[in-house]
Amino acid sequence: MKQEIKLALEWLLALENEGYEGALVGGAVRDLFLGLPITDIDIATSAPLERVLQLWPEAKPVGKPPLQTALLQRGQVAVEFCSYCGFSLERDLARRDFTVNAMAMTRLGNLVDPMGGEKDLTRRRLRFNGKAADRLEEDPVRAVRLFRFAATLPLFTVAPESESACRDPKVGRDLSGIPGERIGRELLKALEGDIGLFLDLLNGTGLLGIVLPEIEALKGIEQDPEKHPEGDAYLHTRLCLGTVQKLTADPATRAAALLHDVAKAWPRHQETAAGRFTGHEQDGAELVRRMACRWAWPQEFSESVTSLVRWHRIPTAAWPVEGLTRQIRAYGGHWLERLFVLGYADVLAGSGRLMPWMENRARALAAFFRLEQAGRLLDGREVMEILGLPEGPRVGEILAKLDEAVAEGQVTTPAEARAWLVQNGP
Ligand code: ATP
Ligand code: MG
Repeated sequence: MKQEIKLALEWLLALENEGYEGALVGGAVRDLFLGLPITDIDIATSAPLERVLQLWPEAKPVGKPPLQTALLQRGQVAVEFCSYCGFSLERDLARRDFTVNAMAMTRLGNLVDPMGGEKDLTRRRLRFNGKAADRLEEDPVRAVRLFRFAATLPLFTVAPESESACRDPKVGRDLSGIPGERIGRELLKALEGDIGLFLDLLNGTGLLGIVLPEIEALKGIEQDPEKHPEGDAYLHTRLCLGTVQKLTADPATRAAALLHDVAKAWPRHQETAAGRFTGHEQDGAELVRRMACRWAWPQEFSESVTSLVRWHRIPTAAWPVEGLTRQIRAYGGHWLERLFVLGYADVLAGSGRLMPWMENRARALAAFFRLEQAGRLLDGREVMEILGLPEGPRVGEILAKLDEAVAEGQVTTPAEARAWLVQNGP
């Protein structure tokens, strides 16, 4: 039996031994039915939260009353206890977002399904629990969750009446006041699924401008028709995203595809000649950093996405080798792979001419092989000794130049590096 189920059964038994009810609820029940891996476990219980915290002193309360839950981490398995103290399990289920998220399973395997989740699960249909407008009124983020589940649950579709309820302008108005981190959390999950579909659903319901205003702003941004016969910057982004999600499951590369051209909508890029957008990758990186902060994305993830956006033109532009070697040193081979996958999709979403990409790919791989082989041929101290230089930024610059010579195959051994240094010294 799976470890997480074993643990869940232990917790349910412990609650029952104390005279309380307890049941597995929400995503875990849904994913068990679908045969999907369970990431976290939700348990609803009649025990008051204080009692749960007494039973599991390591558990931490999260949220604010009355919506407080207790979170307990056991190795890889996380459980969230939610108390319906004074009410019933059925009532707890009724206040959940979708029918397929509103089923419960007791310790003895009895299904509790007051909202018709089983039927919708069978048809792989996402539907608001009860009246859609009421659910959205209580919490407009449920619209974003609806599309996120459509993107991540395999072969699921959104029930038409649930989708159309999201079109009510009130939903957009209510959503605009929502903390960015709630959007960021759903977006992060959607990136693991059909992120293109997620975007299309937001777009189709008129919520794109609220949830991702920077992407909505790309609509109508014209580009050089020679490089971009596909149309405006929005269409380009959508095509690029569609290709990237076929090429890689990596969420950071997918996020970078979504965000790579956001700065094209900036006024100062409109002022330059149509289709130029000089420096949009630099401005884009700045913008993405701010967006990731608003969404409270994990630091490391946000840095990966930002650096991919920052350098997304390396694979497709005539790029001087120094830009490349510095980035390889800074971010490594895995990053280089992601960057070229992004670049490939970027080309296919535009002119489709893969020639500069292929040349740069060969150059980048050669540079990566050579830098890997060489390691650090000389360190800063040796550079200072050979050239009689004091400590300072100049030493770093010389080492970077030496990297370029290595990347171009001119220098392969420490002896050659010394000779190169004497020849090309300060
Ligand atoms: P996953 O963990 O894969 O994202 P999940 O269904 O567990 O899927 P969570 O966001 O972890 O999703 O939420 C756990 C459960 O809590 C949901 O299944 C649902 O029953 C309920 N829930 C979560 N967010 C809401 C909400 N905004 N409104 C109503 N119920 C919610
Ligand atoms: Mg969950």
